[in-house]
Amino acid sequence: MLTLYNTRTKQKEVFTPIKDNEVSLYTCGPTVYNYAHIGNLRTYVFEDILRRVLMFAKYNVNHVMNITDVGHLTDNADAGEDKMEKGSKRDGKSASEIATFYTEAFKKDMKDLHLLMPTTLCAATDHIPEQILQVQTLIDNGYTYETNDGIYFDTTKIEDYGKLANLKGQELQAGVRVELGEKKNLHDFALWKFTKPGETRQMEWEAFGKKGFPGWHIECSAMSMKYLGNHFDIHCGGIDHIPVHHTNEIAQAEAAGANKPWVNFWLHGEFLNIKGAKMSKSDDNFLRLQTILDKGISPLSYRYFLLQAHYRKQLVFSWEALEAADNGLKNLRKQIALLTPDITTAPEVEDAIKEALYDDLNTAEALGLLSKHIKTKTISREIIATFDEVFALDLLEAPEPLSIPEDIEVLIEERKMAREQKDWKKSDDIRNLIQAKGFLVEDTIDGQTISLS
Ligand code: AMP
Ligand code: ZN
Repeated sequence: MLTLYNTRTKQKEVFTPIKDNEVSLYTCGPTVYNYAHIGNLRTYVFEDILRRVLMFAKYNVNHVMNITDVGHLTDNADAGEDKMEKGSKRDGKSASEIATFYTEAFKKDMKDLHLLMPTTLCAATDHIPEQILQVQTLIDNGYTYETNDGIYFDTTKIEDYGKLANLKGQELQAGVRVELGEKKNLHDFALWKFTKPGETRQMEWEAFGKKGFPGWHIECSAMSMKYLGNHFDIHCGGIDHIPVHHTNEIAQAEAAGANKPWVNFWLHGEFLNIKGAKMSKSDDNFLRLQTILDKGISPLSYRYFLLQAHYRKQLVFSWEALEAADNGLKNLRKQIALLTPDITTAPEVEDAIKEALYDDLNTAEALGLLSKHIKTKTISREIIATFDEVFALDLLEAPEPLSIPEDIEVLIEERKMAREQKDWKKSDDIRNLIQAKGFLVEDTIDGQTISLS
């Protein structure tokens, strides 16, 4: 039984798909005005684990991900500059060149991190008619009003607006200043924005009698409904999407005639933090996957680092922690390479690892169990291979030759001499010293062998 924490019902629930063997999954994709940072990538890794666990449970997964290439403003509350237009000025390229460039960079990150490609990867600018149509439906159904700068969704027209995030009414929090402008209510949001008089935009379309462009949220409800329909299984994103983006997607979809509830399961991944703060593109604590590669660390070590934490817990990135994960993964592969073919796996061992994964994707627990059984040589390479369909860490890859530091080489040589002189005490002392430095010496008929301890 697979259980998942559902943000919609605020509890862990047994997952059963709407259709027997098929799961419909929508994950909010990147805004392609810049490289993804490793915090964004944490969210995509959690979504990849979800997809792989569903596949492990023998479901066919129809996975749709959007690419935001228009309409996401620098200020999430419908103000500020379009991030794509801003990126275009910064890089001296057209908005569509920027979109192509950073989409390709994102695909490379996906490949490096072993993220499965979505069944459908759809760009917002390729679905403008669908978005216009959904806005028109909302106008026809009486949910909108027009201001000087766009068409807005009137959030007081639906009774349960904000149910995903438990938003309380429209009142302002004491001490918080919000620029309402022509908006009627605090939570109202733009469905369609008009190009400002005198503004030149690269991306604008003729609709509703003027030139304009879509609001940020409409692309996700329009495209997910196009590809997955009026009622589908799972919708995911980072935790920051709960109060605004996903709340507004639900409002749009349900007001446009989708099933209520539109989506059965909403899953959200927690943040990756660095130096106590959320990693974000606007700050200088922005780290790319390439930064990790440039330090000679494999992206899979970053994946391993992420999987050692539960996706619903905040995780702090540090280079020390990443290096520890890098050593840990290499060591695991080495221990796996030493497993002999005669090892069998008790059904309880397999069940326990599976249960951990089925318990709201507890990869940390599953990896802990896996490594315990690798150490005690109670799991076979075949079973490890089946679980690596989920972890995707290349666990059976031939381990890299161990690079032994010079001081350890010297100690090994000294120990060899001690053994030749039958000075067993000295030999044992040196072995302990080597072990304290993180290496394990074993004596075989061919002499000493050395591995990571
Ligand atoms: P964006 O490209 O800004 O639209 O963000 C892409 C995804 O990354 C969204 O699902 C965000 O919720 C998520 N995200 C943004 N910052 C972080 C972070 N520091 N840690 C984890 N996920 C994040
Ligand atoms: Zn979205």
